[in-house]
Amino acid sequence: MSKNPFENSLHTLHEAAKLANIEPNVVKMLEQPQRIFEFTIPMKMDNGELKIFTAYRVHYCDALGQTKDGVRFVPDLDLDIVKALGFWMTIKHAVAGIPAGGGKGGIKVDPSKLSECELERLTRAFIRKLPVKGAWVDVPGADIGTSAKTQAWMLDELEEIQGFHSPAAINDKPIEANGTLYSREATGTGAYFLTREVTRDLGIGKGARVAIQGFGNVGRIAARMLFNDGYKVVAVGDIFGGIYNANGIEIPTLEDYVDKTGAVLDFPGTKKISTAEVLEVECDILLPAAVQSVITDVNADKIKAKLIMECANGPCTPEGELKLMAKGVTIIPDVLTNCGSAIVCSFERTQGLTDTYWDEETVVNKLEERIVKAYKETLATVRANKVTYRDAAWMNALIKIQKAMKARGWV
Ligand code: NAD
Repeated sequence: MSKNPFENSLHTLHEAAKLANIEPNVVKMLEQPQRIFEFTIPMKMDNGELKIFTAYRVHYCDALGQTKDGVRFVPDLDLDIVKALGFWMTIKHAVAGIPAGGGKGGIKVDPSKLSECELERLTRAFIRKLPVKGAWVDVPGADIGTSAKTQAWMLDELEEIQGFHSPAAINDKPIEANGTLYSREATGTGAYFLTREVTRDLGIGKGARVAIQGFGNVGRIAARMLFNDGYKVVAVGDIFGGIYNANGIEIPTLEDYVDKTGAVLDFPGTKKISTAEVLEVECDILLPAAVQSVITDVNADKIKAKLIMECANGPCTPEGELKLMAKGVTIIPDVLTNCGSAIVCSFERTQGLTDTYWDEETVVNKLEERIVKAYKETLATVRANKVTYRDAAWMNALIKIQKAMKARGWV
């Protein structure tokens, strides 16, 4: 398997298209983005020096609706990464039944090296220079290196250019700038809802032992909700190391501890383990919620969990996945497990379009309804075709996209 993320996503496309009997012209349409924008942003730094930044925005496929998703500010951004991420978002939106296509973009920059004023000028310039924008075309959200603050600047700049309010045109905004409630918690909560559904269907049951790698936005919320629902969280890890207690870790107390110390390490009453060992402890359910490619052909044999919920994007390499499948491990794929934020972002756009803002209960109930429906559709395809959950999710997504392309007369 190639290391190029875009080539890897094309590989998955071809495999799933074969299984779902997708027409060759649909595959041809999906082998490249519909629109690629690459542009430069010249900017005077605080010290007067002129710097030129490279920016990208890819509209991968808008058969299901306007493109939407993140803008990433990272130093190693390149077009292939943006294309791959735009493609994944196209699939994720289709899996989740969101009427949107996939988009992605960003700037090649290390935001930690910018002053606050430089970051604001660069963010506003990104929106000014972006050739196509607006709620019915392409909705940029936050991603690595961007935040609610940058999204508020993007919205403000866009509205300044347009001359009217347009809260549905930018996602991941703060609540004070027409954002949605519950966007920060959406992915971890979605992962919890799915874990609950899958464990029930697999007969694993409450009280099951859970290990979680990553205690950030996603892992921490999922840990809290699983703990509150009676699951036994036996191991947790972050970038600094891991902790283990066979009798279960008190998650609310761990949260207070992490707020004070910044890490899970040395939490009282737990045994110190490495970040990698978190993946290998005795447990029933494993949530990799940190980074990509942590489960490979090298460590797959050591993994004891019966169920892996892919909270991070791409935590299992294809080679690792083959070994896990041979051991009978069930893997719920990233495009399904972590689609909670994509769902709540689509709610944010809907609220902006209607200028009606929902309470938290409404957002959470709608999230639950949408993600459970996506899971049930995936499960039906797994059972009908005897395929993996990953293949089933991709097959369902491709079938939905094919129907839209046909209805529009594209193929
Ligand atoms: P985060 O930055 O809030 O937290 C990441 C956690 O992983 C931290 O605890 C960090 O210490 C740990 N970590 C980082 N590098 C690690 C490493 N090399 N080994 C072990 N632990 C490491 O990030 P997040 O928002 O919780 O996202 C987690 C994963 O989920 C990422 O892969 C992200 O792309 C994916 N994801 C997030 C969302 C979302 O809404 N936040 C949506 C979809 C996918």
